[in-house]
Amino acid sequence: MLYRPFGTTGKSISAISFGGMRFTEPQDLDTCGALLKYAHGKGINYFDTAPAYCDDRSEEIFGHGLSDLPRESFHISTKSGKAAGDELRRQLEKSLTRLQLDRVDFFYIWHLMSPEDWDKRRRGGAVEAALQARDEGLIDNLLCSSHMEGDDLSAVLAEGIFEGVLLGYNALNFPYRRKAIEQASDLQLGVVTMNPLAGGLIPQNPERFAFLKRDAGDDVVSAALRFNLSHSAITSALVGFAAEQEIDQAVAVTENFVPVPLDSQRLTPNIEAGFDALCTGCNYCLPCPVDIPIPKFMDVYNQVILNHGKTTSVAGRLRYHWELTAEPAGTCIACGACEDRCTQHLPIIERLKQLAP
Ligand code: SF4
Ligand code: SF4
Repeated sequence: MLYRPFGTTGKSISAISFGGMRFTEPQDLDTCGALLKYAHGKGINYFDTAPAYCDDRSEEIFGHGLSDLPRESFHISTKSGKAAGDELRRQLEKSLTRLQLDRVDFFYIWHLMSPEDWDKRRRGGAVEAALQARDEGLIDNLLCSSHMEGDDLSAVLAEGIFEGVLLGYNALNFPYRRKAIEQASDLQLGVVTMNPLAGGLIPQNPERFAFLKRDAGDDVVSAALRFNLSHSAITSALVGFAAEQEIDQAVAVTENFVPVPLDSQRLTPNIEAGFDALCTGCNYCLPCPVDIPIPKFMDVYNQVILNHGKTTSVAGRLRYHWELTAEPAGTCIACGACEDRCTQHLPIIERLKQLAP
């Protein structure tokens, strides 16, 4: 296993971390706990959970599975998305009870969606309550997790409140997130990436992502994890494990690890060639005269393409990843300015029509 320093916290965490959101039988504490122990035995020392994961059983699973391991042999994180300080405090205390711990190593202000959302957390007292909990020793380090775009998230990180950040980063969405990752690195923050396999889209579409592979004997899952770990700013890639063989495959990536070059001169042309009809998140299509956030809608359309035309997840992705409804897509006046500028020559107007309610 490869270990990396987590920012300036003094902690060293495994380059592959265990995400507790994919247990297939969360009611079976012994089986799930055994999977955690298996991962720990393979060198994974960072475990991430949250209230609500796996029918709200994930924290309990972690408490059950890790409680008999030496406390200093693992790091654990949980989260709160509450805006009100007193609610965050109650949730943290409940998490500690379920985890059978008197402190967590990392605690996330969870799922920051926008500058307005960040403002709400601050005004509601969530940040203050978390800092108070840190002063009391209930948490070691305060972090945030976010789906914000680079510039907005960079502004939050620059405030100097957080010691690390968790954000989605993979071969599909990296243009949206690269700036925040680089800023986090400049600020010497720990960086954990989630969703390194793009919600399963990468393993489900091995031919599209074959360009990530190092050679013919490579596989896209390993290549996608290597893609994450090759970025020098990334401390650890969080993988939601459901089986021992998945752990073995991910851990193998860290053995004799050699980073692949990630500079945009090499990677971006490969991404664009491999993605043909996919939006690369470059933002060149903006501005739009009616203020449609075109790259966000095109990101959602990427999922439609990679899901072989199925539109079932559109509303959820708009809401969960971008805090949007489909309505703005219906306001396009078809001026064509975005299509003239699109580096991928995408039929943006037609795609917006398909995404409109
Ligand atoms: S075609 Fe539609 S989406 Fe594109 S710039 Fe014009 S109004 Fe905006
Ligand atoms: S210019 Fe094209 S590829 Fe770039 S973000 Fe806009 S729609 Fe996506």
